[in-house]
Amino acid sequence: MIIGGRKVSSSDGAVKKVFDPATLEVIDTVPAATEEDVKLAIQEAKEGQKEWGEMPLYERVKIIRRFNELFLENKEWFLEMGPKEIGKSQSDVNDEIGSATTIAEHFCNIAPAFKTETFPPGDTPGTEHNLMITVREPYGVCACILPYNFPIEMFMHKTVPALLMGNSVVIKPASDTCLVGIKMAELLVEAGVPPKAVNVVTGSGATIGDWLTTNPDVGVVTFTGSTAVGKKIGANCGEHLIPLVSELGGNDALVILDDADLDYAVEQTVYGRKMNSGQVCCSNKRILVQNSIKEAFTEKLIKALQALKVGNPFDDVSYGTLVSVKAAKDVEDSIHQVLEEGGKLLTGGKRFQETMVEPTLIDVDRENTVAKNLEIFGPVWSMIGFDTDEDAIDIANQSDYGLSGGVITKDMSRGIHIARRMDTGSVIVNGSGLYRTAGQAFGGNHDSGIGREGGAYSFANMTKVKTIVLSGCYK
Ligand code: NAP
Ligand code: MG
Repeated sequence: MIIGGRKVSSSDGAVKKVFDPATLEVIDTVPAATEEDVKLAIQEAKEGQKEWGEMPLYERVKIIRRFNELFLENKEWFLEMGPKEIGKSQSDVNDEIGSATTIAEHFCNIAPAFKTETFPPGDTPGTEHNLMITVREPYGVCACILPYNFPIEMFMHKTVPALLMGNSVVIKPASDTCLVGIKMAELLVEAGVPPKAVNVVTGSGATIGDWLTTNPDVGVVTFTGSTAVGKKIGANCGEHLIPLVSELGGNDALVILDDADLDYAVEQTVYGRKMNSGQVCCSNKRILVQNSIKEAFTEKLIKALQALKVGNPFDDVSYGTLVSVKAAKDVEDSIHQVLEEGGKLLTGGKRFQETMVEPTLIDVDRENTVAKNLEIFGPVWSMIGFDTDEDAIDIANQSDYGLSGGVITKDMSRGIHIARRMDTGSVIVNGSGLYRTAGQAFGGNHDSGIGREGGAYSFANMTKVKTIVLSGCYK
């Protein structure tokens, strides 16, 4: 835990263990923050923000660039700790490090171009002599609550825009993957962010979450995680009128039309789900296949899934473990539920070595829970047949989630027609919905959250608009 830029224990000395899901060994322990600790972190952040927020933007950019350099100088450390903490394959961690550094660089590049407005005098009668401008001000203290699945990338997406806009941060990393977050926070301080402006509180979110999301000194909350927790945080923020950005769960559809190149469709189907053992918010969790090609597609998909290598994250594997025994058991339970509801198991289906799950393909009908609102956070491909393009749109939209999606077709206008009707935050035509760039407006509809982040959207989330009127400045 980091309070005021220094590593500290919790005020009552309690700790929480961090496990390696491949060996089930304890890698480290972190403090389990008390209410007093969380209050202190917010207090320190409030003080640290004054110095940081007054620094010119170009100085803040320079410091964040330095942080990004330090991050890359420590790449080997992240390549070792990343797979150990989360069980993700080392090659996935390598990709995550690559995206993370791009994200930080992108935000540094565009921050100086984040503009405010001026209004023409006389925009309404009686204002002919006035100049109206807007300025953007930091909220103050930003609480950044991170999910476990992309602990490095999400650290960048949350903290970098918050800091560039002049906020200080209190970061709550996921308990399963907090060590990389602590390291990154240390690098922020090493790079020159005032120590008090960087705080990390560790401990169970269920315990410390309320202290973080009801404190009147927290100016804004940015959360990525499950819908259930997002609703709890939303209730707190609503009651205390704290602005909230929430990126939540998904049950994304990948629609494969009858004119698709089958090999490409299979490649995208596998790619969009195997990453991080299927623990990705915007992975293609529901595969919607036109019935006329379903048999041929299924044959190829089964072969591709059976060729995947699952094992120790440090070996040359397609994917590693789930993040914990509990996460793997949840996936196993969901597989059983889908089968009990009539799903037909086509390959895989088993959990093994406690935390690993075979690549699993299940053919389901559109009434199965997994075809609607059951988000399985693991390597399970649920396949649903459909007849017409309109059926595909209906099935895609029968979920309460609405994060991302994809359509595979050679006919761009057919793809765009479906894309425009999918009730989601993003749609990729001719690819898996597993797609996110640093500048993309990323986020979801309905149960997938409120708001968008990425590029200038993140800067807007991290600032409040003030109008200043220069009354009578024009003759
Ligand atoms: P989670 O269980 O909701 O946890 C997310 C974070 O919230 C963790 O830091 C957790 O701490 C904390 N937390 C738990 N209870 C809390 C509370 N009552 N108040 C405040 N914070 C609390 O989600 P996860 O298992 O880490 O991530 C998986 C979910 O995130 C999936 O549903 C996935 O789709 C979604 N996700 C969405 C996006 C997106 O951009 N839309 C990206 C990635 C993941 P502890 O770890 O200590 O419990
Ligand atoms: Mg772990």
